[in-house]
Amino acid sequence: MRKLITILSLFIFAASITSCTFQPALDEHGNVSIKPQGQVMRSHGISEFKKIKQRLQISHDPKYTRPIARVAKRLKKVINMPEAEWEFVVFKDASPNAFALPGGKVGINTGLFAIADTDALLAAVLGHEISHATAAHAYQRMLHATATLLGGALLYHALEQNDIDQPEQKLAAYMLVTYLLETLPLSRKQEYESDRIGTIYMAQAGYDPRQSIELWRRLSHHHDTTQKPEFLRTHPEDKKRIHSLRAFMPIAMKHYRAGKNAE
Ligand SMILES: [Zn+2]
Repeated sequence: MRKLITILSLFIFAASITSCTFQPALDEHGNVSIKPQGQVMRSHGISEFKKIKQRLQISHDPKYTRPIARVAKRLKKVINMPEAEWEFVVFKDASPNAFALPGGKVGINTGLFAIADTDALLAAVLGHEISHATAAHAYQRMLHATATLLGGALLYHALEQNDIDQPEQKLAAYMLVTYLLETLPLSRKQEYESDRIGTIYMAQAGYDPRQSIELWRRLSHHHDTTQKPEFLRTHPEDKKRIHSLRAFMPIAMKHYRAGKNAE
């Protein structure tokens, strides 16, 4: 009976792993859906941003804040992020970095402006970063981590039983393989998804989505000559993402043209 319960829990775990894997926030027509991520993630994002603002130096230089305000105004109109308390802050930091937290908190480093020196390029960066928040990517990773912890506990429990026989060991092996297959590419899938959603956001906001390709082309040159900036380390290879963006461009351009026609 006990063994049956263990096997049953392993099955439930395996099912939970597959149900909380990558869930697309973008359909084949480029329609973006907002993924719920719970009040906890939202308030965590807001309180983290407060801490970051205390820790880092903020720039009020209009050569940075003006273009950000222009781009933010247009992006906020098209990004449906319920209950967002939008805030865009420029930090004095030479590394070309930007980030967005759940709750609508966005940080941009001064170093980014050397690479993203037009509104469209800034929109490409911000669209990408904000989409990580709207697609609940951090939340998905948290679910994964929780499922993994649970799985680890169940596995430990199963191995502790002296009368383990083949079926359970096979299940344990299956779980580990499922975990490795599903978790490792998760962040990559999220990156590709954010690239695509980012182009939709920028297109709907009236920026030519093809500029996203230009952004990654510039960043790839930057990668060749300098140490990889922190926010790019989990990002897929530049050539692959440029290739994937090119393939998605006809859909992004439809959204761009629809916006232009509506003007
Ligand atoms: Zn990203």
